[in-house]
Amino acid sequence: KQTSPAQSEFYQAVEEVLESIEPLLESNPRYREHAIIERLVEPERQIMFRVPWLDDNGKIQVNKGYRIEFNSALGPYKGGLRFHKSVNGSIVKFLGFEQIFKNALTGLSIGGGKGGSNFDPKGKSQQEIMRFCQSFMTELYRHIGPTTDVPAGDIGVGTREIGYLFGQYKRIVNRFDGVLTGKGSLWGGSEVRTQATGYGAVYFAKYMMEDRDFEIKGKRCLVSGSGNVAIYTMEKLIELGAIPVACSDSSGTIYHKDGIDLDTVKELKEAGSERLEKYLEKHSKAEYTPRDDYPDNGEKIWRYAADLAFPCATQNEVSKEDAEALVENGCKGVVEGANMPCTAAAADILLESRIAYAPGKASNAGGVATSQLEMAQNASMQRWTFEEVDEKLKTIMCHIYQASRDAAEEFGEKNNLVVGANIAGFRRVADAMIQQGVV
Ligand code: NDP
Repeated sequence: KQTSPAQSEFYQAVEEVLESIEPLLESNPRYREHAIIERLVEPERQIMFRVPWLDDNGKIQVNKGYRIEFNSALGPYKGGLRFHKSVNGSIVKFLGFEQIFKNALTGLSIGGGKGGSNFDPKGKSQQEIMRFCQSFMTELYRHIGPTTDVPAGDIGVGTREIGYLFGQYKRIVNRFDGVLTGKGSLWGGSEVRTQATGYGAVYFAKYMMEDRDFEIKGKRCLVSGSGNVAIYTMEKLIELGAIPVACSDSSGTIYHKDGIDLDTVKELKEAGSERLEKYLEKHSKAEYTPRDDYPDNGEKIWRYAADLAFPCATQNEVSKEDAEALVENGCKGVVEGANMPCTAAAADILLESRIAYAPGKASNAGGVATSQLEMAQNASMQRWTFEEVDEKLKTIMCHIYQASRDAAEEFGEKNNLVVGANIAGFRRVADAMIQQGVV
């Protein structure tokens, strides 16, 4: 029952999951007998707190902080922190809910959680970001722990922010705990974590497309966003011989027929925090479309013809009309790097069209999976090589693809990876909940 209009993203995510696990619930009445749905949609704990900090002018600023500890049936709560002006209770709740199934799908021992703040890092100085992170952790530290809740990064939270958060945590508790993932490699971070979500999405795409006798090599790809996930999706695509031809940021879209020059994007976005428009200064043959010139009913990037599309920016960035344009233009596969980038109507179009469609909770799980590998290294005081972690990531992505594909087939929905991923994830969590009694 939808009781709060302010939770639209959360309801959207719940509806999608409930719809697709219907065949499982029908054939296994015990999930209803144990009130699994009623328990699953209620977070185990939600924390909201004030985050006061001083800006560079000595003025007091106040933001809202959130941490949702959604479900711990399979392990400690695990999920990122998002710092973005759009963050609210519904967004954190939808992300936390999705995280439960994503984490379950990895086959690893991690529960679901998520957090963040409506703090807008844009235009803030390094000192302001540090003071904000320190204030955020001054409340968060009492709720987290290496076997309780282990946050990671997400939009607006990269290695720099994780560093400030970790420094403050350590200062308060006086312990060098593996309490955050995405740490710097000098102080407990795992190799491959930075690349993991993007690389993982491409590994997933490769397994999914190979099953359809489609080779990624030489194919033209659209990759939205130009942040962490988008950059490492493009990097792995290029390594496998594919050609990313477009990427974007919140201000506009770059289309470069000869292939995006990733070094330029990294220079603008990783080394600096520049607008993508500046790409044109080095590549005058590329095309730039500012957001004001986008079609009314969608994003420019999805209107270009390509073989594969990787939405890697944010939620609800692919509209119904965008999905229709992708299908009409001959796209063969859509692989979500972001969380819930397709609206419900767009997902329906993709499923009806029968092009290959990988939902984010399956295809972007490489990040959280590698975070769990970071936790394992921290707990055993080991450090694995890049190759070792990358190999494990490939194995996990292959497992996620196969588990999703097989669950879809088992319930008569061959090729429907949305149904497959939801059922495979749900079943693991639900069975663990039943075995742990009414808690
Ligand atoms: P970043 O903050 O590194 O990058 C986000 C990118 O998306 C930025 O380039 C931003 O542009 C762009 N963007 C935001 N809104 C739009 C829009 N409407 N149209 C086009 N571009 C837009 O975040 P991440 O790359 O880490 O995360 C991206 C997505 O992937 C999120 O949904 C996140 O939850 C998900 N995800 C991330 C994981 C990770 O390991 N990082 C793991 C699993 C999922 P601008 O610079 O203008 O703000």
